[in-house]
Amino acid sequence: MAERIILTQGDPALEKKCRPVTKFDRRLHTLIDDMRETLLISNGVGLAAPQVGILRRVVVVMDVMDEGQEHILELVNPEIVAREGEQTDFEGCLSVPGQYGMVTRPNVVTVRAQDRDGNWFEATGEEIVARCFCHELEHLDGHLFTEHVQGRLYTAEEVQAIRDREAEENGGAPEGGA
Ligand code: ZN
Repeated sequence: MAERIILTQGDPALEKKCRPVTKFDRRLHTLIDDMRETLLISNGVGLAAPQVGILRRVVVVMDVMDEGQEHILELVNPEIVAREGEQTDFEGCLSVPGQYGMVTRPNVVTVRAQDRDGNWFEATGEEIVARCFCHELEHLDGHLFTEHVQGRLYTAEEVQAIRDREAEENGGAPEGGA
């Protein structure tokens, strides 16, 4: 496995529509393994292939809601098949470092995707995982979360200050980039 360089906003690769994966071969497995490692190293919650310059429909998402255990979901050719409820919270992106904004997303999202060997499955995520599914899938169509931000963007320090105030009131937790 190898860490890959994460492209940042302004790079044309982040504005392209990605092609479906058709070959479930060793090259795909290497890409997914590298994306997993890059996600862990960068302390993110999700990563899409175009963020590392590969215009294919592949994302990895940290399934942080899975009873406190952190395991990584690998989604190839994913599509959203159901969404429910609503959540509004700060969102960030590894390709927009140091900037966060308030984005409304569905609270529960079900995706249908293929695994690294081409088998179809469904996965349902809540809260940050649901947010991450939406965020990462949009990357595959060349869109960034900044298109949905309500109001202005905040720095990490500003987000932390707001989180600290929230924590005093009801116990909030910071989110990573996706
Ligand atoms: Zn992102």
